[in-house]
Amino acid sequence: MKNQKKYLLDENEIPRAWFNIQAIMPNKPLPFLHPATRQELKPEDLFPIFCEECSKQELNQTDEWIPIPEEVVRQYAAYRCTPLVRAYDFEKALGTPARIYFKNESVSPAGSHKLNSALAQAYYAKEQGITNLTTETGAGQWGGALSYAAKKFGIECAVYMVKASYNQKPYRRSIMQTFGATITPSPSMSTRAGKDMITADPNDQGSLGGAISEAIELALTTDNCKYSLGSVLNHVCLHQTVIGLEAEKQMALAEDYPDIVIACFGGGSNFCGIALPFMRHKIQKGEKTRFIAAEPASCPKLTRGEFKYDFGDESGLTPLLPMYTLGHTFKPATIHAGGLRYHGAGVVLSQLMKDGYMEAVDIEQNESFKAGVLFARTEGIIPAPESCHAIAATVHEALKCKETGESKTILFNLSGHGFVDMSAYDQYLAGELQDFRLSDEELAKFMASANALNE
Ligand SMILES: *Cc1c(COP(=O)(O)O)cnc(C)c1O
Repeated sequence: MKNQKKYLLDENEIPRAWFNIQAIMPNKPLPFLHPATRQELKPEDLFPIFCEECSKQELNQTDEWIPIPEEVVRQYAAYRCTPLVRAYDFEKALGTPARIYFKNESVSPAGSHKLNSALAQAYYAKEQGITNLTTETGAGQWGGALSYAAKKFGIECAVYMVKASYNQKPYRRSIMQTFGATITPSPSMSTRAGKDMITADPNDQGSLGGAISEAIELALTTDNCKYSLGSVLNHVCLHQTVIGLEAEKQMALAEDYPDIVIACFGGGSNFCGIALPFMRHKIQKGEKTRFIAAEPASCPKLTRGEFKYDFGDESGLTPLLPMYTLGHTFKPATIHAGGLRYHGAGVVLSQLMKDGYMEAVDIEQNESFKAGVLFARTEGIIPAPESCHAIAATVHEALKCKETGESKTILFNLSGHGFVDMSAYDQYLAGELQDFRLSDEELAKFMASANALNE
């Protein structure tokens, strides 16, 4: 068995419940606050925007396990359980004594982990009699996942796509349209929020925060329409725990256990997915596993942001969330890892970060692609630009092991494939890719928007 490369589980081993870390956190996340009254939010306060079941899951701090509906398990079975792979050739290329495993979420119909939550959210919407879902998408991964999930459950899907990505990634738009969704580049003239952004800056290339504002506005002003978010929120992170729950069983098959768990970090959903099931052993049994979030140097909310109450969107339509943030007015550079261009970190994750259960590193764009190309050439999978950040952080740790001679076990999440991101690879290979590091001055300017809410 020792030379086995792939660790597979049967369909009947798909987890039947998601793991809700909120129930066991030593310090519970601070409450969400109503932006006007500053009162603590209750699930009902979220009902106008989100499905009821998702709203309840969002604020559930008591149930450690939340059953996965049978119909969602049935849809998961189209691609789950996903493989856990020992990256022997990648290890060899790095010359490291570390054992490197990756969990391959790129095998989903949408090409990324995002479908794990999209299917759950579309199911709950259907159950509640909702006919339309609206959302934003950065790189187009979430939009693709929700378009497919909505179609599966017979729901219409309208997607606001960050303008920079709409132009950079036309095929992602085609994918969403193929799955039957309607796509609008954001900022657009179709909402008040979009008009304001365009008036302020006619060349606005959009941001996730801005697209969120537009989608929420549409949900609030349309009957039987709810908003659906692909990252950041607790219920999204909850749905993603299927990743780590499977990985836990697969690591046991490999007769190994991770010393280090790594994932790239946009709003935190794939990180939570792979990390939280292992983190419960750190909280409950004192396991020493390190958890490393890999974020882009251009969007460093965990490494350089601050823990504050802030809005989840640019226009201030969401509740105030206690999280690491760069300020809700943050305008990220147009890096190719579109899914990582978000100003905030999930609430649960932010609290765990504050309490020292995890750490973060920031990665330059060129460094991420360098690692991604090495991975592609050794393991035969072209990773999404987002996932390349996790791979770069894995390379760091593997090379540290090479220096010290320690044979640590590293597990990283391959959140998606890069087949629709080949123009980014082209630029990298041509040496035309730019690095963007956020300057202290810019950071201070954006942070001021969050600071103003915490006075
Ligand atoms: C969206 C996305 C991410 C970033 O989002 P998280 O919520 O932080 O996981 C990472 N990788 C891929 C492939 C994505 O599509």
